[in-house]
Amino acid sequence: MSAAPLPALAPATEPLPPANPPPEMMIYALETGIVRRRAAFAYRGGSWFERRDSAVMTVLVGHPRGDLLIDTGFGRQINQQFRSNPLVLRMTTRYERFTAAADQLDAVGYSRKSLRAILLTHAHWDHVSGVPDFPGTPVWITADEHRHIAKGDFTMSIALTGARYEEYGFDEKPYFGFPQSRDVYGDGAIVIVPAPGHTPGSVIIFATLPSRKRYAFVGDLVWRIEGITLRKERPWLIRRLADVDQETLRSNLLRVIVIHERYPEITIIPAHDPSAYADIPRLPSELQRSSHY
Ligand SMILES: [Zn+2]
Repeated sequence: MSAAPLPALAPATEPLPPANPPPEMMIYALETGIVRRRAAFAYRGGSWFERRDSAVMTVLVGHPRGDLLIDTGFGRQINQQFRSNPLVLRMTTRYERFTAAADQLDAVGYSRKSLRAILLTHAHWDHVSGVPDFPGTPVWITADEHRHIAKGDFTMSIALTGARYEEYGFDEKPYFGFPQSRDVYGDGAIVIVPAPGHTPGSVIIFATLPSRKRYAFVGDLVWRIEGITLRKERPWLIRRLADVDQETLRSNLLRVIVIHERYPEITIIPAHDPSAYADIPRLPSELQRSSHY
């Protein structure tokens, strides 16, 4: 149990990978709830007295070939689902639910027909709770994560009966130092890379907007951006409880730290860090139906 920071790495030198996002592409962040936490829980060296609530979010990525929802946040049934979580998680977790993503989207007139799939960073309870609110929408998942769900990992006890899983694989095409990648629509706008460690099938989703703004949705690779900017892993005990493979997680974390240092134009979004979503627009009060939105 060493207090040493993560090792320094040689900087990445490759140019930014090409991307041709369609002009209609959009991105919106939806808040679906919070989990009450302390900074000490979030990253090594954080204070036990500083309150740091975890955001529980959904991100809608609008693309003319089909929109994607990155994770679902808390859904309509979170209270019932939470009761099936293991005791230790229930004892240590206080949460507050906001309006479920499905209801937020309904309220602004979003057409479900535009939604191609739910794309999970990983399948933990606070990321999949809203899946049942989108019946019939495919849930894109890696084979490793799908197997992990079937095994009934202790933080995945929400039974997603009826979910329409669609497994996807990766090409042997390196992307930002990750050996494999999947370019969802072939235009470089949405690219997924495997980043296991927190769960066996965790992924990172890179999105490039027409404004050239880039995002990396890193799921629970870290819980706070400090995990990357201060190079701090989760506290040891939390890693032991929360991560299935600490060594692999660390190597993926180091890759993301390199990306952060080398490419300041990429905003890294840890799923639960509210500050990370600051420059992602929230849903407008009404989505225009004449165009794609
Ligand atoms: Zn999470």
